[in-house]
Amino acid sequence: MRHILVPVAAALALFIMGIFILNTQLWYSARADSMTGAKFVVKNMNTILGEAQRATRTAMNVAAAGCDEEGQYRLGTEAALQPHLRTIFILAHGQIVCSSLPDNRVLLVNVMILPDSPLMLLPAKEAVNGLPVLLYQTVSDGSRIGITVSDRHIRDALGISIKGISYQLRVGDTVLGLSGDATSVNDKGKHVGRLDAKNYPYSIEYNYPPLFSVHRLVSQGAGILLFLLLIACLGAYALYKYLNKSTPPEESLQRAIAKGEIIPFYQPVVNGREGTLRGVEVLARWKHPKAGYISPASFIPLAEKSGLIVPLTRSLMAQVVMQMNAISSKLPEGFHVGINFSASHIAMPTFVDECLDYKSRFERKDLNLVVEVTEREPLDIDERLVHTLNTLHENGFAIALDDFGTGYSGLSYLHDLHIDYIKIDHSFVSRVNEHEESTRILDCVLDLARKLSISIVAEGVETKAQLDYLNRNNIVFQQGYYFFKPVPFTDLIKILLSKPNVKVMVE
Ligand code: C2E
Ligand code: CA
Ligand code: CA
Repeated sequence: MRHILVPVAAALALFIMGIFILNTQLWYSARADSMTGAKFVVKNMNTILGEAQRATRTAMNVAAAGCDEEGQYRLGTEAALQPHLRTIFILAHGQIVCSSLPDNRVLLVNVMILPDSPLMLLPAKEAVNGLPVLLYQTVSDGSRIGITVSDRHIRDALGISIKGISYQLRVGDTVLGLSGDATSVNDKGKHVGRLDAKNYPYSIEYNYPPLFSVHRLVSQGAGILLFLLLIACLGAYALYKYLNKSTPPEESLQRAIAKGEIIPFYQPVVNGREGTLRGVEVLARWKHPKAGYISPASFIPLAEKSGLIVPLTRSLMAQVVMQMNAISSKLPEGFHVGINFSASHIAMPTFVDECLDYKSRFERKDLNLVVEVTEREPLDIDERLVHTLNTLHENGFAIALDDFGTGYSGLSYLHDLHIDYIKIDHSFVSRVNEHEESTRILDCVLDLARKLSISIVAEGVETKAQLDYLNRNNIVFQQGYYFFKPVPFTDLIKILLSKPNVKVMVE
């Protein structure tokens, strides 16, 4: 279930973005469609008004010739033959002089007082049949020719089927839609699109398609929606796989070294009898961004096996130089700084040069730089190793044999090596308690160390009984939780500052 949220969120974001783009695309195309529809309505309306225009010419001829029976017949024929026209009438000197209907009827209620505007939408109350009507008028030679078009034909022209779009005819302030009466309106209402006709004084108004429509998405973009869903799922799956792919531990460690996540902790070494601070041992810690501090026990063996121990130790050395230089004025004279080196690193031909370079970078030249060599992994004591460690010893380094008494294959090489300290492993120290027989093994180990005339450092001192025992046996250098646990650099500064004469709490 690790990293499931991110892929799901990414898939959702991808899908929503796809819907947004698709919806916008469909909206644009629906807008374009609504405009195309409006043009089509104008074309229909122009066809109707074209008929009215032609009928007007006939009516003009009739008016010019004077309206007699023949003229009335021509008007009637014209109205009958033009599919969309209802009546044609000629008005002169305040009265109807001729009409396409018998007895000069016009089917309009107040035709005398109507203005002579070229085009008018008349509401239902103006027509004898109670239905709205469009009136097309032309004034010529003192007479006015009027032609009416029934609402049915206008609504047919408006009624083109484009989903979600409705059209209405506007003439001046009066509008006529697909249903209802012709009404006067001041505002545009929901009809925001407008197309003005070029040849006649009217406009076609229409509403824009809705910005977002589930129906439009499903009906016009179902295929693309499915495709989007598929892409989002595939993307999420790929991201899930990528985020959850397990990094090989070597790779993680290598990255941690490069990112500076392996940092030095310092465990003070004290003079057990006097309680003075004599130095520190550098102990690696992995400052993991998620898991917190990781113990070296879980990554040093991996580092040794993979060869990463070399860059790891180099990184620690660089950090130790920087940190010790930063507090160089606070360090007591002859302060020990011990670093653990693995056998594979010591065996490298560049090792001596590395150590010399490391030494040269300390501002304080009186520091006692200790090279701790462990036999945790069997130490291949050959001439070269002896030569390497002796060269370092001659160049002012102190050599400490770590974990003394554990897993030694032989001690013969001790005669050839210049060892400065041996560190008694805490597995021996930890056995010491108030009972006399508990010290037997340690007695032997100390005896052996003493016979070699090498200084001893006791590790893992945890109790007063152990301290007393070590003091009784004149073991000067001691290290353990009884005094200090390994601490980060900032805490080491505090220890150094809080104990100006570096006296530690030994009762
Ligand atoms: P070590 O060199 O023997 O280091 C001493 C270990 O004993 C440290 O464990 C320290 O925290 C622990 N210790 C100190 N005082 C006490 C105590 O009073 N009681 C107990 N129970 N333990 C105490 P840490 O830091 O976990 O290191 C474990 C080992 O990892 C070290 O043993 C050393 O062999 C190796 N190591 C640590 N840092 C490095 C490094 O930078 N390079 C190499 N090559 N090895 C390292
Ligand atoms: Ca050590
Ligand atoms: Ca040790």
